[in-house]
Amino acid sequence: MIGNTTVDPLAWAEPVTKPEIDTVRNPRTGHVLNVRRLIRAFRYEHAILLRQKLKALIKRDGARLVCATCGVPVYLACSTTKRFFFRHRHEDGSCPAVTRTGLSEADIRAMKYRGAQESAAHRRIKELLLRSLSADPRFKDVVQEKTWKASEGLTGLRRPDVSAWTDTDRLAFEVQLSTTFMDVVLSRKEFYRAERATLVWVLPNFHPSYRRMTDDDILFGNNSNVFVVDERSAAASEAAGTFIMTCWYRKPIRQGDEIVDEWIERQVCWDEVTVDVDRQTIVAFDYRLAAARLGEELRAARSEWLATAEAAAKLAREDQEDVLREEVLRFVLDPSRDDDHLPRYHAWALLHDRLRSMGYGLDGEYPDLLTATRIVHLIESARAGTPVGFRYKSFAELGHHLIHQHPELLLAFGHMLRRFGTRDALYRDDRTGKLRAKLDAMRSDLLQDPKYRMPEDQERLCAFLSLGGSRKAWPNNDNTDQSGRAAA
Ligand SMILES: [Zn+2]
Repeated sequence: MIGNTTVDPLAWAEPVTKPEIDTVRNPRTGHVLNVRRLIRAFRYEHAILLRQKLKALIKRDGARLVCATCGVPVYLACSTTKRFFFRHRHEDGSCPAVTRTGLSEADIRAMKYRGAQESAAHRRIKELLLRSLSADPRFKDVVQEKTWKASEGLTGLRRPDVSAWTDTDRLAFEVQLSTTFMDVVLSRKEFYRAERATLVWVLPNFHPSYRRMTDDDILFGNNSNVFVVDERSAAASEAAGTFIMTCWYRKPIRQGDEIVDEWIERQVCWDEVTVDVDRQTIVAFDYRLAAARLGEELRAARSEWLATAEAAAKLAREDQEDVLREEVLRFVLDPSRDDDHLPRYHAWALLHDRLRSMGYGLDGEYPDLLTATRIVHLIESARAGTPVGFRYKSFAELGHHLIHQHPELLLAFGHMLRRFGTRDALYRDDRTGKLRAKLDAMRSDLLQDPKYRMPEDQERLCAFLSLGGSRKAWPNNDNTDQSGRAAA
């Protein structure tokens, strides 16, 4: 055969260049689909299966797709170059799209010639199959072309090339020829399924890079396994006293971040073959299962990679935050600072831009250095257990100052005292007990009264600079909202 086109099963299906039917409609949903786009959405192996499915449905009058122009059910057809297009189930002349033309005389002559050529090959394969099966004592009633009548209640008649029994399986063998059309493949499948028997397609030869249309119909309809019986496999069967065929199958393998196929050819004994009557498949290798597992593996690897990348990004961000936090603290606490000096404001603006870029900036066009300074002093005072930056001598005085001047800082201050273990210092200086009394009196209002609430931007900055010490919990504790206020 000349000019065979063979397509990688995992490649995207290709439509013919100018399909006669360019749009189809889903009669159930009413959706109109562009044919070229629709076909391109399938991998080749799935397009082949879709083609079989549409054909089977049309036989049962269950059209899945109809011609958008005339409403006649359509099925998927494949050109000799393995490009796909849609055909009307029947052509009644009412549709401008003509998809079924009669065969030319030359076509028919060519087919007849091929048929004659093949009948010799057909006879030979049947002989080889008989020899192979007869070599294995487990196969009973190995006969050629015996009429197979449908069981009671079912209709039909088949004459499989070879039929046989084992203790567990009832088998029909058919030799696949190039004139075996999809209709035949499908209808035989149905017949044997109904009979609770298994149809085994036997190919005279096979090569993954030279596949005919019928090869693909059988291959993809059989979970990517095909069986070849030839002189070699028949001799192997006779030598081993067990039925052996050559099996070709696809094996999915991981190549970096994707799945590709490997084609395996090996001789398999009947014991290695799994028969599924319902699916009408017989396989030596479960491609579908292996591909699904590999896909799962790939997804797991991908999410693991993502998790690692995320963790690395988080660490990098934490490093950046540590550096920035240190710089802000050092900047504010710099003993040589002069807050009336203009360059200092410029430096603060730059530092603040970095704070803002990480989500910790203060609101407003001109971020207040005084506010930031107060926050840093609050943190350092809580850490030291003595006023830092505030012009008070005792911790208790600082407490009174906050109560009267900055009630919004009290909660954060309290959390930090607890966190830094400096709470006792507050009451040690409170000789008169006034501070404790004031604090006790306001305790119940602390969470309700808005005057004790820090503006959001300041709260965020304070939490960042105190490493979460200003919040009841850090970070993102489930019992606490972002600001840490709710559970405080
Ligand atoms: Zn039409």
